Amino acid sequence: MSNLNVEALVRPELAGFEPYDPAFTPCDVNLSANENTHELPQRVRQALGDALLGTPLNRYPDPLANELRDELAAWHGVQRNNVLVGNGGDEVLFNLLFAFGGTGRALVVTPPCFEEYKNFAKMCNTDVVEVWRDPVDFSIDADALVAAAAQAHIVMVTSPNNPTGGLIDPAIVERLLFQTDALVLVDEAYVEFAGEGASLIPWIADHPRLMVLRTLSKAFALAGLRCGYLVADPAVVNVLAAIRQIYSEDVLAQAAAVVAVRAREEFAPVVADIVAEREVLAQELAALPGTKLWPSSANFLLLRMPRAAEVRARLRDEHSVLVRDFSYAKGLSDCLRITVGTHEENQRLLRALAQVMGR
Ligand SMILES: *Cc1c(COP(=O)(O)O)cnc(C)c1O
Repeated sequence: MSNLNVEALVRPELAGFEPYDPAFTPCDVNLSANENTHELPQRVRQALGDALLGTPLNRYPDPLANELRDELAAWHGVQRNNVLVGNGGDEVLFNLLFAFGGTGRALVVTPPCFEEYKNFAKMCNTDVVEVWRDPVDFSIDADALVAAAAQAHIVMVTSPNNPTGGLIDPAIVERLLFQTDALVLVDEAYVEFAGEGASLIPWIADHPRLMVLRTLSKAFALAGLRCGYLVADPAVVNVLAAIRQIYSEDVLAQAAAVVAVRAREEFAPVVADIVAEREVLAQELAALPGTKLWPSSANFLLLRMPRAAEVRARLRDEHSVLVRDFSYAKGLSDCLRITVGTHEENQRLLRALAQVMGR
């Protein structure tokens, strides 16, 4: 250990942060991070390989990833200047707060929700106002949210929400747009699992303060690639384009993302299988003694059960099955978040759970 007093040197708002550690114990079955555990469709795998091999590495990337923006814009029925690509949705979230947060400004969130919103806000010296969801059904108090948002610069809601699984009522987003002056981010990281019509991207054209975040990390099974994007008004996209790390999206990620988005139809059967498996798994988990399960429109399920932390440790240590423990988190006592895997993985989880609970 050095005796450097780094706490005195680091910016005060950044002191005390710890490196992110998702506590990934290597396990045979990893259902802890909401990744897509299905194999890539064969044709996609082939095309990805070709694209990666054919991409020279000696040249800098296109900073704004315009080929990818065009592919995403065509998919979503918007223009290139409505799309901003980032090194994962996380980078876009950080840049949103870097650009629109700051001293004397507030971000409104609706916990339990994705914790990065709050972390990034704090790093950007932005106040965080929490409008807690109903402790039983995790619904949002629309009046309380609108009242908080009316005093804030930016609101982040998640649809489907991580980790509780539900979609936001579009009427709430409508109220945020009509009854406040805040920027409104709808984080749709999991929306592909929610079925047709769940996305609010079609609203973008009529609502310049609405922004929708998407990612290739979940439905597209590319969490390791680091590619997310925002669909928003061109003025918002311009601000973010100007302040981002210029080469954050590397040439391999851009090339692979173009292939994946172009082949998006190939992922439909994978997503359909995960959705069908989710419903089967939900039924089985809800039938376990003493459990409570919330409906999910995403690729994971939130399960409350007695001694959840202990159950999670035994699943990991005795059965090599990893799920995410949220029992430490406010509002989520005794809750585990379980990613929906392949049929085999889900069955293995259920067998392991039955054994752990039987003893
Ligand atoms: C996974 C996730 C994201 C984005 O993840 P990236 O891998 O950084 O694209 C954003 N929001 C929520 C709620 C998520 O769960």
